[in-house]
Amino acid sequence: MHRTHTCGELRLSDLGKSVTLSGWVQKSRDLGGMTFIDVRDRYGVTQLAFNTDDDEQLRIGARELGREFVIKVHGQVIERSSKNPKIPTGDIEIKVTSLDVLNASKLPPFTIEDETDGGEDLRMKFRYLDLRRNPVRENLILRHKMAQEVRKYLDEQHFIEVETPVLIKSTPEGARDFVVPSRMNAGEFYALPQSPQTFKQLLMVSGFDRYFQIVKCFRDEDLRADRQPEFTQIDCEMSFVEQEDILNMFEGLARHLLKTIKGVDLGSVPRMTYADAMRLYGSDKPDIRFGMQFVELNKLTKGVGFPVFEQAELVVGINVQGAAHYTRKQLDALTDYVKRPQVGASGLVYARYNEDGTLKSSVDKFYSEEHLKSWASAFEATPGDLFLIMAGPQDKVRKQLNELRLEVGNQLGLRDKNKFAPLWVLDFPLLEWDEETGRYHAMHHPFTSPKPEDIPLLDSNPGEVRANAYDFVLNGSEIGGGSIRIHDKDLQALMFKHLGFSPEEAQKQFGFLMEAFTFGAPPHGGLAFGFDRMASIFAGLDTIRDVIAFPKNNSGRDVMIDAPSTIDQAQLKELSLVLNQKTPS
Ligand code: ASP
Repeated sequence: MHRTHTCGELRLSDLGKSVTLSGWVQKSRDLGGMTFIDVRDRYGVTQLAFNTDDDEQLRIGARELGREFVIKVHGQVIERSSKNPKIPTGDIEIKVTSLDVLNASKLPPFTIEDETDGGEDLRMKFRYLDLRRNPVRENLILRHKMAQEVRKYLDEQHFIEVETPVLIKSTPEGARDFVVPSRMNAGEFYALPQSPQTFKQLLMVSGFDRYFQIVKCFRDEDLRADRQPEFTQIDCEMSFVEQEDILNMFEGLARHLLKTIKGVDLGSVPRMTYADAMRLYGSDKPDIRFGMQFVELNKLTKGVGFPVFEQAELVVGINVQGAAHYTRKQLDALTDYVKRPQVGASGLVYARYNEDGTLKSSVDKFYSEEHLKSWASAFEATPGDLFLIMAGPQDKVRKQLNELRLEVGNQLGLRDKNKFAPLWVLDFPLLEWDEETGRYHAMHHPFTSPKPEDIPLLDSNPGEVRANAYDFVLNGSEIGGGSIRIHDKDLQALMFKHLGFSPEEAQKQFGFLMEAFTFGAPPHGGLAFGFDRMASIFAGLDTIRDVIAFPKNNSGRDVMIDAPSTIDQAQLKELSLVLNQKTPS
């Protein structure tokens, strides 16, 4: 028998028991007459005591154990003389009577401790060792628990988990597809799903009524800290629903998860239109853990000859409450922040509302105290506040001020990881103009239904058409998104036309879906949550990599297994991928 107990299990109540434990050597200490070893497994750490007087051989064996050796020990549970209140097994130790080395270990390339000395690259190369560390393991356990609670909630709500295929045909959802050559169909390719979108809609046509799947999706995009080429969605679809039904159902899911996993009561989830989100926060995923809503100042800033404001389409600012004490140096640093190429602003105007009631700005040459007072009342400010103001073309300046707002929020500690502020963003535009291709793209995807009252605008003013589409935002991250779908063949065909598909192209790519719509498609809609991102927010982490067991790096590589990799000529040939058969000279 390898063990009677785990390494996290024994307590004072087990005193005197004869036990067997197996695990990894965490560390050893040699103290003259005694050798102590900490043995570790997934469940915890237990101290082992080896005493020279009892058995010299045993102690020599113990002294030879290196870190991460796999051992099995037998012995008796005794009370520790110096207790360790920091760990649950800290009151006891095992007086070892026999020791087996089950497997030796090379010295690990970094320490297997909560705070390790290993850099990111090394930890990724030896990810299986990194996964031995408590914080990394705990993230995966959290993720596991969340997945169980998702299934529990959705099952109780009569959702059915259905697996959809991974080798499919490409669905245009804005990103590039990963493709897989088909050996049996020379010259043809499968695509890996960017999401199971069309399949879940077909399941609605099949009458499944409520579907979900915790599913891997694949997008060949340039990577950022919070993106992976393969990621997991909680993908859902419902029939005979309107937007309101969906919002309620998935607010329920978020509420259930926060309650069961974090012990947090979500309360009701506020809602905001896309237009308001852009106007008040300059972002379609506002972090509403803190205020600092945008205040537009066009009327109060024009006509005095300050050229920057005079020429600007939009003058807009935020009131940073209680920040009038910001020093010149801090304000210069904020100015530098917005001037960085990533933000791209030309500058920043500020005004302090001093504690004594006076107002001072960086543009005093142009604006009198009277002007500044009118700004203060627009900001609903009180003495001690600081105004930060930017100007420029509307869309650009809003984005820039959003960056500034988030940065100031960080600086002031307003983005507390233990606070959860959800938000529904509604009424997204249906179409988005793409400068590069010079045409409209579906902002969500081509299956999203326009708001019926906006359909007439499709011809005259496509950019103004709103969609029945919604995003679930948590702490400034978009963690879910979906829409009510088109379920009418003609409307779907019209959408494809507006997206620049010829009827033949639409038929070729989506004929199967439009045909399905002719066989009694129910009204339906759904959404998908980004499970990795959701888990990383629950874990209080900045990157989704830390909640993925075997993630890829920023170049899309798995440095542990060394993928992607080349394949040999024979394989290429079999896949009909050898275009040039000439042998190298
Ligand atoms: N398929 C969509 C996505 O991956 C989600 C949805 O509309 O349900 O973003």
